[in-house]
Amino acid sequence: MISGKRFWIKNKNWRMNDIELDAKTIQKYSKASLPTLIKKATKHFNAYIRERDARQPCISCGTWTYLQAGHFYSGGAVPRLRFNEDNVHGQCMPCNYFASGNLLRYRENLIKRIGQERVDELDRLSHLKGFKWNRYELIYIIEKYKGYK
Ligand SMILES: [Zn+2]
Repeated sequence: MISGKRFWIKNKNWRMNDIELDAKTIQKYSKASLPTLIKKATKHFNAYIRERDARQPCISCGTWTYLQAGHFYSGGAVPRLRFNEDNVHGQCMPCNYFASGNLLRYRENLIKRIGQERVDELDRLSHLKGFKWNRYELIYIIEKYKGYK
C-alpha cells in the first residue's frame, strides 16, 4: 500500500518500505513525462484490480459480468488514492460510467469486503490535502504491477 508514504534516497537508489528502485530502473523511465508515467501506472494497476476481482461480482450492483477497475474516491478528486488497492474494485461498466460509481451501494459492499476500519481509513486519507505523485512513486507503481496487462 503506497498511500501516505514517501520514498527516501540512499546511495542514489530510492526506497519505499522493502522495495528499492535502483538507478538503472529509474534511468529506464528517464524520457517518460509525468502524464506518461501516470498512464502506464494506471494501465498496469487497473489490470491488477481486474485480475484480483475476476471471481467477484460488481462491487456496486452485484452483477456478474466483465468488470472494470472502479474507484470509490475518484483518482481525479483524490489523487493520493488513485493507486490504493482498498479504493479500487471490480465494477461493471454501467455502474462505473453511467451511475457515477453507484457510490452508496459501493460503500455498503466495500464495508462488507474490506471492513469498516479500512473504509474509515480511506475516508480519512480522502480529506488530506496537497498530494502529488512524483516520478519515483509512479515508477514504483509501474514496477510493482507491470506483470499485469
Ligand atoms: Zn454494477
